[in-house]
Amino acid sequence: MNERTMIGKLFAKAGETVSISGWVHVRRDQGKLVFFDFRDRSGLVQGVVLPGSEAMEAAKTVRQEDVITVTGKVNKRPEKNVQLGKANGDIELEVTGLEILNSADTPPFSLDDTSTIDENLRAEYRYLDLRSPRMQKNIRLRSEFVRRCRAFLFDKDFVEIETPLLTESTPEGSRDFVVPSRLHPGKFYALPQSPQQYKQLLMTAGFERYFQLARAVRDEDLRADRGFEHTQLDLEMSFVTQEEVMQTIESMITTVVEEMGYTLKAKPFPRVSYADAMKQYGADKFDMRTAEEKAAGVLAYAWVVDFPMFEKDDEGKWTFTHNPFSMPKPEHLESLMKGENIEHILAAQYDLVCNGFETGGGSIRAHKPEILEATYHVMGYRQDEVEERIGHMLKAFRFGTPPHGGIALGIERNIMNLTGETYLREVQAFPMTRSGQTAVMKAPKPLTDKQLGELGLSVKPRNDA
Ligand code: ASP
Repeated sequence: MNERTMIGKLFAKAGETVSISGWVHVRRDQGKLVFFDFRDRSGLVQGVVLPGSEAMEAAKTVRQEDVITVTGKVNKRPEKNVQLGKANGDIELEVTGLEILNSADTPPFSLDDTSTIDENLRAEYRYLDLRSPRMQKNIRLRSEFVRRCRAFLFDKDFVEIETPLLTESTPEGSRDFVVPSRLHPGKFYALPQSPQQYKQLLMTAGFERYFQLARAVRDEDLRADRGFEHTQLDLEMSFVTQEEVMQTIESMITTVVEEMGYTLKAKPFPRVSYADAMKQYGADKFDMRTAEEKAAGVLAYAWVVDFPMFEKDDEGKWTFTHNPFSMPKPEHLESLMKGENIEHILAAQYDLVCNGFETGGGSIRAHKPEILEATYHVMGYRQDEVEERIGHMLKAFRFGTPPHGGIALGIERNIMNLTGETYLREVQAFPMTRSGQTAVMKAPKPLTDKQLGELGLSVKPRNDA
């Protein structure tokens, strides 16, 4: 048998006999003739089975979405039948052989456009949903965006480093997902809300420029643009100013999205103070695009800076606005150290917004133990509580931790902007449903008695259930 030719390369093979493999996209049985559209990852091509062809018997039985290998001759289509604007619209395959590699049940919904199909049905058959052109485009675009970001960062001397998934609860501000320990019954790991502390420790360790495509897991209420799991392009740099971190990210995004053919509304990205954003837009994330720019898919990135470092929580106590590890702006360091003028302390914090979403956020960090301690004292922690919470960070900071800062970009929110999607689930391969049910598989589900026994756990009804 001939070697496999990708459908997208058939145009260069006119007159030759080739073999393709893929799926039956469409079958049109016209009695004497059977027409097909065949599909592989590179595109679509029309096939025709002529009367008397050896492939006719198979052609009569084959069904939509069957997996096939087809042998045939690549013919230029008569001028009048050329389908302009269609991939491979000017050639067709005269099918001489058709082998079914695996037959397919009838899909539960049309794979042309799945956007109106019930969410739970799409989730159950996510592997079919993902065959739809829109999902193929979104997931491939996500991969391309990530690939280009990686390439940019490697070129700038960054090192990609993975950090643990089973870890200690971090003070990131959301509820943790926890994992029971079999070796230490009654004790629990937490899944990372972000690699914040590990990436700072990598600065102590002397890597200077770190990044990772990190999974962040937060037990938050689900919304259109927020799931339990998301991916962050997480990054940290040593010996840098706020300006240098922002420049690195701005240059990466500009390079990557322009290479991908997108138009930016403004270069350099506008900078807006938190106070001005609240005055002008009533929020710290905003959409600067005109209606025409929205229609044209323009990307309107902007930086929001000068955030208050603290706000009052429900009990009237000071708490951090973004990240307890942030440094105050240099001119406000003295206030923090003295615990004065708390409401006026601004953080060296920067958020990246685009088209109405917060797509990233980061800060310069408090790299000296006494500064981080001061933050915790403002938040009302006694010294022993500070040690208990972040003693390991304070210890590390005493061993020559350089000044450092970083940022995390939300991959899904960035891809939502690139694709124009309004739901996070359209840019993740296997998202959860709105009710927190996994795609295809059926988590969460009960553990067996044996598993519970090994973990030393027993399940009791929840107070509010
Ligand atoms: N860890 C922060 C977050 O997940 C980002 C950062 O400050 O680098 O929001």
